[in-house]
Parts: sequence; C-alpha cells; structure tokens
Amino acid sequence: MSDLKAVYAAVDRDTAVAVEELINSFGVPASLEQADALASELFPAVVQRRQAVFAAESAGLVTEHPDLVIAKQRPYRLPALQKLVRRCAGLGQKPQLAQLELFDPATVNMQSRRVAPAWMPHEPEVILEMQRRLTAGVARHTKQVGRDAIFDTARRNGVMYARQLSGKENCAFCAMLASRGAVYATKQGAGGNGNFFHDHCDCRVVIVRDPNNWAGKHEADRLYRMWRHAGSTTAFGQAFRAEQGALA
Ligand SMILES: [Zn+2]
Repeated sequence: MSDLKAVYAAVDRDTAVAVEELINSFGVPASLEQADALASELFPAVVQRRQAVFAAESAGLVTEHPDLVIAKQRPYRLPALQKLVRRCAGLGQKPQLAQLELFDPATVNMQSRRVAPAWMPHEPEVILEMQRRLTAGVARHTKQVGRDAIFDTARRNGVMYARQLSGKENCAFCAMLASRGAVYATKQGAGGNGNFFHDHCDCRVVIVRDPNNWAGKHEADRLYRMWRHAGSTTAFGQAFRAEQGALA
C-alpha cells in the first residue's frame, strides 16, 4: 500500500515539474489553437504516467485479491486533455476567473483584478495561476485511471467498493460520498457521483469483500450517522466543516 502512496505522490511531483516547464516554454494559451497545441505536447507524458498508475494499482489488486479478474485499463484520449487545458486557460463559455494582484501600468501600482489566464497570458501571476490549475487538473486525470481500475474491477466481479477519506484534504462533498460506505459499483456510478473526484482530492477507492468487516467501516458508519443526523446536504456540510475545524 505504501508503494501506491509513493506512486500517487510521484504523480503530483512529476506533473508539477512537467507543467511548469511546459508553460514556461509554451506560454499561457490565449486561443483555442494554442490550448490544443499545448495539450498535444503534454499528452504523451500524461498517457505514460497513467500507465504507471494503472500498473501499480492493478499490481496491488492482484496481491490483495488474487481471485478477482482485473478490469481493463480505461483509455485516455487527446480531447479530454484539450478540454482541460481550454478550461484552465479560461477559454470556454463561462471562464473561471481568478483574483490576482496585477501590475497596472496606468497607475504604476498593483491592482487586484478578476481575470481568466487567457486574457493576460504574459502576466507573471497569471502564468503561476495557469500552472496551478493545469497541475491540479492533469494530476486528477492521471489518478483517475487508478480509481477507475478499482471501480471497474469491483463492478466486473460483482463485489463492493468504498470511497475513503485520506485524512489530509477532506471536503464535505467527499465525506458525503464516503458516508455511503461499501456499495456495489453500478453502471450509473461509473464516472458518476461515487467515482467523481475534484482537483486536489486525495480520497482512496478500495475493494470491500465483507461489508461488515473492512478497514474503513468505522469511519464510514460515523459519517453516515452524521449524515442522518444532519438531514440535508447543507447541514451535513456545516457539521463536517465544524468537525474538521475543531480537529485542526
Ligand atoms: Zn476527496
């Protein structure tokens, strides 16, 4: 298991280095064409790292559950990465804006502005924001292949799986999914709620053979009680954040 942790940590590290180098040489894409060209440049390395994640995850599965048939690796295609690069640059319909401190030549002062990276591709703060966004997104795409491997293997073999909080960066959304405990992987769940991960999410997905006896049961039960007690998504979010705040 610690091997797997190392593989996932390496994804974060290597992705950050690769994205930084690429943005430094390529610049922040200011057009769809530039975004797609950047994606093409990045694509082979993403495919390669996904391969490594799948290899590690499936090796872990074989060791822990030698009786299960391991699901095939899900393919990854260039359009997925193009879409990600475009979104990070803010080249879509509703660009996500970032509040940045930028130099304003008119007043010769720093000015706080809400911008999409593609609007001001040469600003140092914008370049950093683009690197942060793309690193998080590419790391998420890379790790998804491992999470899919667990999910697909559970589904293929008709066994349960569960989402577990890592204990590091837990948000209320992830806690809500974790509160479901061990569940069967359904067709609807594939790529849907149960197997959706946000940027920087470090939740794990595990195969569960016995729903009454597995490593994460205690925590899942606790979160489920919290969920039942809260009665709504909003109330659960408040309760969970309050608890996390108290722990910090
Ligand atoms: Zn998470």
